[in-house]
Amino acid sequence: MRKVSLLIGPIGQLVTARSIPWMYGDDVLIIENAGIAVDGEVIIDVGPWDRIVREYNGRCRVPAEDSLVTAGLVDPHTHLLFMGSREDELELKLQGVTYEEILRRGGGIYRTINATVNSSDDELLKALLNRLFNVARFGTTTIEVKSGYGLHPSQEIRLLRIINDAASKAPVDVVPTYLIHVPPRDMDRRAYVRSVIESLNDAKGLAQFVDVFCDEGAFTVDETREILREAGARGFRLRLHADELVYMGCSDLVSEFEITSVDHLLNMPERNARLLSSRKTTATLLPITILTLMTSKRPPVRALREAGVPIALGTDFSPNSWSLNMQYAMELATYLLGMTPMEVLMASTVNAAYSLGLRDRGVVQPGFLADIVVWDVPNYKWLSYELGRNKVSVVIKRGRVLEATGEGAVISKGCD
Ligand SMILES: [Zn+2]
Repeated sequence: MRKVSLLIGPIGQLVTARSIPWMYGDDVLIIENAGIAVDGEVIIDVGPWDRIVREYNGRCRVPAEDSLVTAGLVDPHTHLLFMGSREDELELKLQGVTYEEILRRGGGIYRTINATVNSSDDELLKALLNRLFNVARFGTTTIEVKSGYGLHPSQEIRLLRIINDAASKAPVDVVPTYLIHVPPRDMDRRAYVRSVIESLNDAKGLAQFVDVFCDEGAFTVDETREILREAGARGFRLRLHADELVYMGCSDLVSEFEITSVDHLLNMPERNARLLSSRKTTATLLPITILTLMTSKRPPVRALREAGVPIALGTDFSPNSWSLNMQYAMELATYLLGMTPMEVLMASTVNAAYSLGLRDRGVVQPGFLADIVVWDVPNYKWLSYELGRNKVSVVIKRGRVLEATGEGAVISKGCD
């Protein structure tokens, strides 16, 4: 009998993709009465519980009778680092006041930028860590965090340093992204794009991705192209906020650059689904933002599915879209976007990992990281079906069981 650090089982229902990315169809494994053997940070065996329990002696055991077990959730699109809030703008939005008018009154994104820039490193780190501890309660084990509320490049670099500092202290893995968010109002646009490009060297080692908000009111296709070209040349992976508010050709940039993920896509023409498919680009959809935008627009899910584009889901946590809970994005993906429960689960685990260029997680198979969630539901369909409850019962991150504390935070628990 081989000694291992952790056994999970017996498991009511285990559901996982077999490989990365999940490309629809039946490339999934569903095992009833399953077991998982974990040693250190890695899954070493998956199979029927009778066999697992015969072959391995686990120092710890997590029982999961009548429960669903999946890979840990991956949230591939968040704006987790900012100060302040904008709840008072909600009533203005409901009265039909336009975003442009809210901006004119000193609200909107520039208000968040002011609050962020005027906060100390310690305050920002504390706010970010608090959010990172909380996402784990909802089953998220890996999360992308964008800069973007510093505006001026020196502030963006400062935010990236804080993200990296938080990453070293957080219970979940963090993927830092340098987001080029909006042009400042007090600076010539050309000069701003130049200063962004100059700052890319300072961002090396602090961010894995460069992301540009390509849309009306943010950056033009030409400006985005210039930033992507320089970022790509410096070895950054690329992602885009594209076609969210209007279509002006942002998603077409996939034909010119190796872009790992294009996100939002509410106004993407259906024909571009084939383009994404041919370039193996992920479509990351953000249904919570569809709700908070109060729009009737929807991303072209059917066209993406038919073209075989891997779809990922994210929260898009921001002052305008305040939810740390990936399960909420999953629920809305079914009820707002018509994604099936299996599509939703794959979009929140294996395909979300793929959209971050991560090939070592999102799948419950030997050799993958032991990032695993035990759910207080009987089967995977229930994750989409039941709304508004935190359905997590146990979160395992890199082979360690996380435990909720009174503050709503989560800490690693030893098990020897
Ligand atoms: Zn975003």
